[in-house]
Amino acid sequence: MSGDTETRLNSSVNVLPGFGTKTVQALEKFGISTVHDIIYALPMRYEHITTALSGDRAVLAGTFERSMIVRTRQGKQMYQAIFKGEAGFFYGVWLHFNRQFPDSLLNAGESYHLYGSVTRYNGVLAIFHPELLDANELGSVRRIYSLPGKLSQKVYQKALDSAIATYLPQVEETLPETLRIAYKYPDIHDSLHTLHHPQTEANAKLIEGGEHPALLRMIYEELFYLQLRLFLRKQSYMRESGLAFDIPHSMLEEIVPIMPFKLTAAQRQALREIFADMKSSYQMNRLLQGDVGSGKTIVAFVACMVAAKNGFQSVILAPTEVLAEQHYHNLSKFLQGTGFSACLLTGSVKTKDKRQIKEAIAGGDVQFIVGTHAIIQDDVVFSKLGFAVIDEQHRFGVKQRKALMDKGFTPDILLMTATPIPRTLALTYYGDLEMSVIDSMPPGRIPPITKAFRELQLAEMFRYVEEHLNDGDRAYFVYPAIEDNESSTLKSVTQNVKNVQRQFPKKRVGLLHGKMKADEKRQMLADFQSGAIDILVSTTVVEVGVDVKDATIIVIENADRFGLAQLHQLRGRVGRNDKQSHCLLVASSEVSETGFRRLRAMEQFTSGFKLAELDLELRGQGDFFGIKQSGMPEFQFADIVRDVDIVKRARADAQAIVSSDPHLDDDSNKLLRTVLMSRWQDEYELFLVG
Ligand code: ADP
Ligand code: MG
Repeated sequence: MSGDTETRLNSSVNVLPGFGTKTVQALEKFGISTVHDIIYALPMRYEHITTALSGDRAVLAGTFERSMIVRTRQGKQMYQAIFKGEAGFFYGVWLHFNRQFPDSLLNAGESYHLYGSVTRYNGVLAIFHPELLDANELGSVRRIYSLPGKLSQKVYQKALDSAIATYLPQVEETLPETLRIAYKYPDIHDSLHTLHHPQTEANAKLIEGGEHPALLRMIYEELFYLQLRLFLRKQSYMRESGLAFDIPHSMLEEIVPIMPFKLTAAQRQALREIFADMKSSYQMNRLLQGDVGSGKTIVAFVACMVAAKNGFQSVILAPTEVLAEQHYHNLSKFLQGTGFSACLLTGSVKTKDKRQIKEAIAGGDVQFIVGTHAIIQDDVVFSKLGFAVIDEQHRFGVKQRKALMDKGFTPDILLMTATPIPRTLALTYYGDLEMSVIDSMPPGRIPPITKAFRELQLAEMFRYVEEHLNDGDRAYFVYPAIEDNESSTLKSVTQNVKNVQRQFPKKRVGLLHGKMKADEKRQMLADFQSGAIDILVSTTVVEVGVDVKDATIIVIENADRFGLAQLHQLRGRVGRNDKQSHCLLVASSEVSETGFRRLRAMEQFTSGFKLAELDLELRGQGDFFGIKQSGMPEFQFADIVRDVDIVKRARADAQAIVSSDPHLDDDSNKLLRTVLMSRWQDEYELFLVG
């Protein structure tokens, strides 16, 4: 077979004309490796080539009259060409021109179309560094693609258009016809063609507004397959496990006395939902959402206790060692006198101790295993794993959940998050999970007073702390960086620990950051907990979970550099006792007005859910609690803030399909099987075949 006929959609873009090795490498880094990729990479915007002066850029048409070279005030040469158009004279102006250029391009008496941003110069219209267009481009729509560095639109589009001409026919339809017809969506060839070549300005506008059927189809398809996968995954939990815990009333009566406080109604409700899952023989996959400090931990402990009383082990996974240690500490107190025991397994446990701990786990001598993901990565063997808690689950992905199951058990899984997720996001990312929400705080809590300061008001902020930090109370000072860095303006803990000490000479100031040794971190937190340290200068390692009851003040500098959800998490470090607490946010000196308004929103709202919605609105889905780092899917076409309605429709359609044909055995669903198999083979095997 010749090379030509071998060429497929998955060939490298180097088969396309005009792309050299450097370009191919640059494109690869940009996420465009194959012919398929380039065909699916849509323009980032369109330009309508028009003489109307309403937009940014426009065409000025006229005949070239004469030119002159003048000197600018800086002594540079400037080439001015004067044209005569219908509405009068206008200029084309070139700075830093090459001697030959643009003189050689322009002939007196001929007509030209100059394109660019139109300004005024010497009292008439002018375009600086205009592009000279072919007359036939007038009225057309130009596409602008987001491209790496030096790659020109011209070279790129030439290659792309050749890809479209040659390979688009090879692209196979991936959306079932019934759905396509139901929504009147064009087929995949039509859609891609229109998106790259919208032809008319009306089309381009519809696409940019997210309303053109060609784009809607791409968005719908992307969301539809995501939802389909979520339902298939959810359905697979139904057949896993077989673990059905016995939870008689008498067992709960035994547990009540060991609890340090009376549960709130919201906590009890969450437990009822968890118990219902545990009793059933399906594998539980439930997400427990609750604002910072709402008391999720005790709910998890009680569920683990039920598992223990049924003879099963539980693991509690935390995203950081600090948090794992804290859970271990609390759990040990909780277990006193119960006859059950807990162990702690993190990366910094010494090898010798690790071996002992692992033996205890394998031998079933320990029922509660607390740790970081070291637990699932390591060669830990459980004796009888029945329950798993994953705290601050947005730091873990589906992969880790799966790794847990690969240990040979299908434990019931309780995921917990203190980052409230707006409903559309929840449906999109956690559509496979059941949800419980703790929507109220333990009694006696007073919400923190939040104040936003500008960098200029730093002294005022320190005075405020001075006035409000009572003896015996503790304060956090949070900075984004560990060390000062020339290439950034972020404030660091190592620099500011000195400054804070100077501000409060009588207070004992400690330092905490992620690069410290585990022992040092542990000691520092213990000192802060006990009051040996009054002020803790820290990076965001204290963001999740750290529970120091006497902390009443938290100061966050460069606060505009954090997301609202993250600020809310940090604020949750205070307000853990019955005293009035304070959260002081200091903006960077270069903060934008929108940035400062976000901090003002923090003053106003204390509900994490409300702030999460706002954050999503203000920063968009991409930045929302670091979706990129969390292993959650990113979208190529969809914007789930804008496309809420499509999320809902795609979800309903996927659900209908999975519930009527759970294994997609039907001939009518053959296409779905093929697509799943080719794009998500691992999952396909796990959820459909397995
Ligand atoms: P989060 O939901 O943020 O993980 P925690 O479980 O750490 O919250 O609970 C926050 C604090 O509230 C802890 O100090 C915990 O002991 C306390 N707490 C939890 N539930 C109650 C309750 N029902 N009554 C009183 N205090 C509670
Ligand atoms: Mg917690």
